[in-house]
Amino acid sequence: MSRKIVVVGWGPAAHRLVTGLLGTDAEVDVTVYAGEGAVAHDRSALPSTLVKTRAGRTAHEASEARDRADTAFDTTAAALPTPNDPRLDLRAGVRAVAVDRLHRLVHGSDQWIQPYDTLVLATGANPVLPPIRGLRTADGRDLLPGVHSAHNAADFHRLAEAAAPASHAVVIGGSSTGLAVAAALRISRSDDPLHVELVDQTPATPEITPTDAYLTLRRTGVIAYQDCRVRALESGSADALTAVTLADGHRLGCDLAVIACGTAPNTALAWTSGLAVARGIVVDDTLRSVSDPHIHALGACAEHRRSLSGRHETLLAQADVLAGRLSGLDPQRTYRGPAQRAANATSVVAEAEALLRAAAA
Ligand SMILES: Cc1cc2nc3c(=O)[nH]c(=O)nc-3n(C[C@H](O)[C@H](O)[C@H](O)COP(=O)(O)OP(=O)(O)OC[C@H]3O[C@@H](n4cnc5c(N)ncnc54)[C@H](O)[C@@H]3O)c2cc1C
Repeated sequence: MSRKIVVVGWGPAAHRLVTGLLGTDAEVDVTVYAGEGAVAHDRSALPSTLVKTRAGRTAHEASEARDRADTAFDTTAAALPTPNDPRLDLRAGVRAVAVDRLHRLVHGSDQWIQPYDTLVLATGANPVLPPIRGLRTADGRDLLPGVHSAHNAADFHRLAEAAAPASHAVVIGGSSTGLAVAAALRISRSDDPLHVELVDQTPATPEITPTDAYLTLRRTGVIAYQDCRVRALESGSADALTAVTLADGHRLGCDLAVIACGTAPNTALAWTSGLAVARGIVVDDTLRSVSDPHIHALGACAEHRRSLSGRHETLLAQADVLAGRLSGLDPQRTYRGPAQRAANATSVVAEAEALLRAAAA
């Protein structure tokens, strides 16, 4: 009889695991709860898709796109291919809302109850919203109009729409995501570059090397401030963003702001299921929850040896270990931790620079 494997989440970690499992002839039935939709995305490719969609189009392509009313964003380049396999049941847009560990059942937002032999949590991470005054609307339900997250394809879609008429953008947070988004926004309008500023509270390193990410970013025309904390967002009469105020009182007028202040593991489902959660879902070297031998976790939601990591190379390594174990091809394989961290990758910034050079030539 086939083994029932249920995967919650459809990000790069789940995608790698499921592709690895289905790449073997293991007798498995794999059910995936893909809360965000049928297509998994390589998130690291989302900012550069913003660049390619606008600046990378030829005049002819741009005019065709306008005719199709396709004025904004196309995430195809960041999409991971969906496996076509009868062993896969991909539940697009369905969220897992509860786990009954005693009876090994997952309750979905579609009211379906799915039994499992093995459950894998790949629920990823959520963007952190910093405690900045004025970040939300008066009723606290939404972000202030003009303020955006930059986490998933839908966020980038909205961002592309908002960037088209914007005059001045501020990116809050200088993580690799913030840097990439700032560079992408800067050149998202080839004819009329957007004025972009980036603010990060971390002090600059004392020595600036030629590979310094900020140096590269500034070459694209983005104005970047380090060692600066954002205190408040200001809105005008129409309750829309008008400025970002820094802790020193300095005011950056803007009509678009992007929050890129890091992520926190999405542990809600694990927590309500009674699994051990510290900062992430606590797993051992077999990527099994320390609370339940039938449940595994990997990717940005998992905490292994007291470490969290949503980095690409880490989640791929974890997925490969788990695919080997669950398919039976390599049942003794273990995960011992991330390989040595690679140098700071700022490929989208370098790409932005190259596009600017080409535009100037
Ligand atoms: C813009 C951006 C750029 C990045 N660039 C890089 C980079 O250059 N290098 C790098 O190493 N990392 C980068 N990262 C980080 C990396 O992409 C993420 O950490 C990675 O996506 C984590 O993968 P994951 O599969 O663990 O989780 P996620 O990608 O977060 O996917 C989890 C999925 O699970 C779904 N989900 C959650 N709960 C449920 C539920 N109950 N039911 C159903 N579905 C659920 C979520 O909706 C989500 O789709 C970047 C991230 C972003 C946002």
